[in-house]
Amino acid sequence: MGVSDGLFSRLCCLLPLCKLVPMIYLRNISDDELFSAQLELLMQHGRVASMSANLIGALAVMALLWPYYETLELLLWGFAILSLLLLRSLHMSSALAERRFVSRPKRLFWHLVIGSALTGLVWSGMFIATSGQLPVALQYMVLLIIVMIAAISLAVMVVIREYFLAFVFSALWPIAWWSLLHFWDQPQNLLLGFLLLGVTGLLVAASNGIHETFRRMLSLSWQQETMSRELGQITNSLRDKNRQLQEARRQLTDLANIDELTGLGNRRLVNQVLRDEVSRARRTGAWLSVILIDVDYFKKYNDSYGHSAGDDVLREVGNLMRQASARAGEVVARYGGEEFIVVLPGAQLHDAIRTAERVKGLIHDAAIPHRDSEITDQITVSQGVFSLQPDGEIDPGLIVDRADAALYRAKREGRNTICVA
Ligand code: GH3
Ligand code: MG
Ligand code: MG
Repeated sequence: MGVSDGLFSRLCCLLPLCKLVPMIYLRNISDDELFSAQLELLMQHGRVASMSANLIGALAVMALLWPYYETLELLLWGFAILSLLLLRSLHMSSALAERRFVSRPKRLFWHLVIGSALTGLVWSGMFIATSGQLPVALQYMVLLIIVMIAAISLAVMVVIREYFLAFVFSALWPIAWWSLLHFWDQPQNLLLGFLLLGVTGLLVAASNGIHETFRRMLSLSWQQETMSRELGQITNSLRDKNRQLQEARRQLTDLANIDELTGLGNRRLVNQVLRDEVSRARRTGAWLSVILIDVDYFKKYNDSYGHSAGDDVLREVGNLMRQASARAGEVVARYGGEEFIVVLPGAQLHDAIRTAERVKGLIHDAAIPHRDSEITDQITVSQGVFSLQPDGEIDPGLIVDRADAALYRAKREGRNTICVA
C-alpha cells in the first residue's frame, strides 16, 4: 500500500512539468526592467568612455589656452570640470553598488541627466567666456573639441537618450545661440551659429536610431539571459523528474514481481529468475536446484480457522522460508495459492535437500496449530526437490513440473515429507 501510494504521488508530481515548458517562450522584458537595464549599462560602460572623453578634452583645452590665460584661471576651470567629472563618477559607482537603477530608477535618471547637463554647461560657459579673447583659429579648435566630445558621447551615452540630449543641448546650443546673437562682433559668428544648430540637429537625429538599436540589443540580451536561466532551471527540474521517474519505474517493476500477501516474489519473478539462472548455469556448468513446497491440508485449515487466519499462516510460512534460505542469490517466492518455491542457484541435490530440511524444521518449530490436519495437530508442508545441471535451453515451466511431480509423490507418501525428482 505504502509503495503504491509513494508511486502515485511521484507520478502526480511529474504533471506540472507540462506547464513549465512553454513559459520560456513567453517572456518579454517589461518597460521598467528595460529602463533599469539601460541605466545599468550606461553607468557600467558609458561612464568610463564619457568621463575619459571629457577628461582628455579638458586637458587639450587647457594646453591650448595656456599661452592666453593666467595659470590660476585655467587651473580653476580645470579643477571645476575635474571635480564635476569625479563627483559624477563617484555617484555612478555608489548607484551601481547599491543597485539604485533597480530600486529608484527615476530618481537616478534625473541625477544623471542633471549631471550631464551641468557638464555641458561647463563646456559652453568656458567657450563663451573665452571666445572674445582668443584668436579665431583657436576658438574653432576649442569648439571642435566640444563637438568631438559630444560625438563620442553619442556612441556611449545614448543608451539613455535624455542623458545624451542634456549634454548636447547644454554644450552646443548656448554656443550656437550666443554666436547667432553676436553676429555683429565677428562676421563668422553667423555661420558658426547655423553650423552648430545643424550639427546639433544631426546628432539628435542620429541619436534616435542608435538609441533604439541599444534598446533592442538590451532587450534581446535580457531575453537570452532569462531564457538560458529558465532553461537551466528546467534542465535541473527535468533531471529531478527523471530520477523520480526511474525510481517510480523501479517500484513498478518491483510491484509487478512481488506477491502482495507475503511480500515474497511471485510466479512472474520465479520464471524470470529461472530463465536467467538456467542460462548462467549453462555457461558455467553449475548446478541449479528448486524446491516446490505445498502446505498440507490447507483447505481444511481455511475451513476450520477462516480465510484470514489462513492468510496469516501463508505469511508466516513465507517468513520461515526466507529464514531457511539464507544464501545470497537464492530466491523465495509464492508460486500460487498455498504453494511456495525456492530457487537455489549453484546448489546440488544434497544442498537443496538440506535447505528443504531446514524449512521442515523451522515449520515444525513454529508449531502453528492445525486441529484438522490428518497427520499431526500442526501446520506441515510437503516438498518436492529437483536438481539439474542444464546443458541446453530448458523452459522454466518444465523445471517446476519436475519439482511438482516430486511434490505429488511427497503428498502420496503421507505428506510432511521431502521427495526428490
Ligand atoms: P493438500 O494437503 O493435498 O495440499 O491439501 P490442500 O487442502 O492444501 O490442497 P488444495 O489444493 O485442495 O487446497 C488449497 C487451498 O488453499 C484451497 C484454497 O482455499 C487455499 N488457498 C489458496 N490461496 C489462498 C490464499 O491466498 N489465502 C488463503 N487463506 N487460502 C488460500
Ligand atoms: Mg496446493
Ligand atoms: Mg496443499
